[in-house]
Parts: sequence; structure tokens; C-alpha cells
Amino acid sequence: MSGEFEEGFYYVCANCGRTLTTKDFEMLRRIQCVYCGYRIVYKVRKPGVKKVKAI
Ligand SMILES: [Zn+2]
Repeated sequence: MSGEFEEGFYYVCANCGRTLTTKDFEMLRRIQCVYCGYRIVYKVRKPGVKKVKAI
């Protein structure tokens, strides 16, 4: 079910500016704002999710 959308990112609606998560898109099964229905969202990298290999 999950894995269709990338982890480590969140999304901001280009219309209403609300924050969206991959879970919101998984519920809709498409990239769309759950609040206003707008189809254009900005993809934003989550801060502090940088993967570092521990050697
Ligand atoms: Zn919206």
C-alpha cells in the first residue's frame, strides 16, 4: 500500500498553503489537496531527515 510516495518529504498545497502528508495522498489514491481539492502541491524535504551511514 505505502511506498508509492516518497518518504522524507511533505507537501504544501499551492492554493491554500496547508501542509499535506503522504498519508493524505494514500487516502485519496492521488496527489491532491485534501482540504481544497487543488491538484498542484509543492514537494518539500523534511528537515533533519538526512540519512547518514554509521560506519
Ligand atoms: Zn489546498
